[in-house]
Amino acid sequence: PYTGPSAAEIMQKRKEYLSPSMFCFYDKPINVVDGKMQYLFDENGRRYLDAFGGIATVCCGHCHPDVVKAIVDQTNRLQHSTILYLNPAIADFAEALASKLPGDLKVVFFTNSGTEANELAMMMARQYTGCQDIVSLRNAYHGNAAGTMGATAQSNWKFNIVQSGVHHALNPDPYRGVFGSDGKMYAKDVQDLINFGTSGHVAGFMSEAIQGVGGIIELAPGYLPAVYSTIKKAGGLCIADEVQAGFARTGSHFWGFESHGVVPDIVTMAKGIGNGIPLGAVVTTPEIAQVLTRRSYFNTFGGNPVCTAAGHAVLRVIERENLQENAHVVGSYLKERLTDLKDKHEIIGDVRGRGLMLGIELVTDRQLKTPAKIETLHVMDQMKEMGVLIGKGGFYGNVFRITPPLCFTKEDADFLVDAMDYTMAKM
Ligand code: PMP
Repeated sequence: PYTGPSAAEIMQKRKEYLSPSMFCFYDKPINVVDGKMQYLFDENGRRYLDAFGGIATVCCGHCHPDVVKAIVDQTNRLQHSTILYLNPAIADFAEALASKLPGDLKVVFFTNSGTEANELAMMMARQYTGCQDIVSLRNAYHGNAAGTMGATAQSNWKFNIVQSGVHHALNPDPYRGVFGSDGKMYAKDVQDLINFGTSGHVAGFMSEAIQGVGGIIELAPGYLPAVYSTIKKAGGLCIADEVQAGFARTGSHFWGFESHGVVPDIVTMAKGIGNGIPLGAVVTTPEIAQVLTRRSYFNTFGGNPVCTAAGHAVLRVIERENLQENAHVVGSYLKERLTDLKDKHEIIGDVRGRGLMLGIELVTDRQLKTPAKIETLHVMDQMKEMGVLIGKGGFYGNVFRITPPLCFTKEDADFLVDAMDYTMAKM
């Protein structure tokens, strides 16, 4: 049993010793002290179904025994920096990871986070092309360091930084976007940005396949192929941010971009890659990778033995336990059940997403699409009381984000939907 400080004591310490910028979900945050697969346990041993652990990196399930074993074994043997010496863990994992990517995408550079991966990707695109201009999508989240905060396009997450060389294109959002589901029309906006906002040449384009923080927005059909071709014509590189959509989460494919039928020049990843261990990566072609040899470039802990041992174990678990197939089957079932809920509850404006990356947007008026912000918080809170943890996102904070560990079952899906249905019915 847990004998550490209570939630109240931790809150007190956070107030005194931690950055005031740290935030928690829920008015009364829970103190999670144990995890097992799709479950979390609080200080009193109360169990919660974790339908949001996916964004927080867990794809195989909390404390998956194979991943834990890989971490413990490697920690017992050696933990060190990635630079200076050889170690088999990083090389083995790079080989395994490269085998999951299409085309010539086979050179890996490891980082410690998604932000670092995207910073590096943007820098490589700029070095490779000799251009500065990068196009990203409004409503995107790509990180919070200097460059990536520029690419991130939601005022909630942006500080007053110099945002050099980034252009934010219209978001191809089928629900709220000006052109509805017409991907080609949104793509024209990117051509306009290039024609009227740059020299005609760009360094690249960066986007998520499904926007996560932005509220599980699936890009309008036909958008990515059209934009990729526009960007290529302008001499730029296409960067796929797979930090959330990657690693089998979308079910139909291992990578989110694959469902759009495109092949990027650079792919970035983090979160799910390490099942909770700090790890990120940039994968690109041998030719593009060459740009980093123009200077000395390193990352002290990116790709260290413990983290890469964990990452390798994650790939094996995804394969052995058919987690991609499970994300597809359970995700489709869950989406169907949530779509049925939409018929029953007027407050649900939209249900969207793919595999185990689903979003439910709440509105107080379906015609006006008025964000139901307070109601979103209320439902989340009530569901927590019933033992179900879901996330929220979107610019207005009115979208539930459902991104559970990929071991989620149909029974878990039923429990989640029943708890949501019950809460909404009582509202
Ligand atoms: N890209 C995407 C799509 C993300 O969702 C996030 C984190 N929410 C990041 C990049 C940044 O990752 P990190 O927090 O690991 O720096």
